[in-house]
Amino acid sequence: MSKFWSDAIKHLVPYVPGEQPKAQQIVKLNTNENPYPPSPAVMQALQDFDLDRLRLYPDPDARALKQALADYHGIARENVFVGNGSDEVLAHTFMAFFRQDAPLLMPNISYSFYDVYCNLYDIRYQEIPLQADFSICLEDYSQTNGGIIFANPNAPTGRALDLKEIEALLQRNTDSVVVVDEAYVDFGAQSAVALTQRYDNLLVVQTFSKSRSLAGLRIGFAMGHPDLIDGLERVKNSFNSYPLDMLAISAGVAAIEDEAYFRSTTDRIIATREWTCNELQALGFLVLPSCTNFVFAQHRYLEGAELMGYLRANGLLVRHFSRPLIDNHLRISIGTDAEMQQLIDTLQKHPDIIR
Ligand code: PMP
Repeated sequence: MSKFWSDAIKHLVPYVPGEQPKAQQIVKLNTNENPYPPSPAVMQALQDFDLDRLRLYPDPDARALKQALADYHGIARENVFVGNGSDEVLAHTFMAFFRQDAPLLMPNISYSFYDVYCNLYDIRYQEIPLQADFSICLEDYSQTNGGIIFANPNAPTGRALDLKEIEALLQRNTDSVVVVDEAYVDFGAQSAVALTQRYDNLLVVQTFSKSRSLAGLRIGFAMGHPDLIDGLERVKNSFNSYPLDMLAISAGVAAIEDEAYFRSTTDRIIATREWTCNELQALGFLVLPSCTNFVFAQHRYLEGAELMGYLRANGLLVRHFSRPLIDNHLRISIGTDAEMQQLIDTLQKHPDIIR
């Protein structure tokens, strides 16, 4: 390969996803998947699916799913965009709105895909430091027509902002596209979706991967003013004019319609999270308040990398980031009650951890 091309390829720095181990007996608490199966209504929809229809292309507008999402969120179908996981929706968002002269503003600790997209698409960006307690201070995000993005709740910290703070940001920043990534919002934070009806520069991105337990089907969506949705459609059509396959559309509709199952599993995860926080604190961890399906915790004396290795050796996978400011923290996804009990029992057996 010519040197020109090999150098160019080395500059494409990809996102490194959390590990998906082959071994079945590992307790996976590293990628914030839902420990419970998808809704029985989803299983039924997939079983009933007429496989002969797979000969055909899916609906390029995914109307059934957009309509179900619009009804669920009390908005119009024209306010909804769907894509192959929220990662893809975010990728299109970066391409459509953030290629400006001014820098895109984002927190210095957030979802690490954001800087990957910036580097891929040559987008200038500026990282705004979190406060000492790992919260986002939106007052630090001044007017910029390069755009603003943050996750609410933030990842990997789990901390959430109040809607009033987001609305104040929107009032101060009328020219910038403001993207709120709400991948974890269903676990106890307030969604900004209603604000999309009043602020035409706000785009809210959500996913079926966490609270709907459908990470394997890859369904993400964005909600906002029809002009923003149009911008996303234009980019999407240049990549792949079919946003979702037929099975994903059917399963997505069934998942949205089963409100009772959604509530019971998210409530269960929230209760398990609170139990886990208390147990971790009793074992000497400092745990940030979480509005997500994970906790972000640091032991008072022990190093994050060492603890991750210890847990791994004992069959539990958690996420550790070798990054400044957070390299002593562990991000631990909330599993079933039994899995979290196993985590606590294992930590308790660590020679340097005393309850
Ligand atoms: N945003 C945040 C903050 C995330 O943590 C994730 C999951 N890694 C995503 C978006 C992407 O989720 P998905 O592509 O599965 O919808």
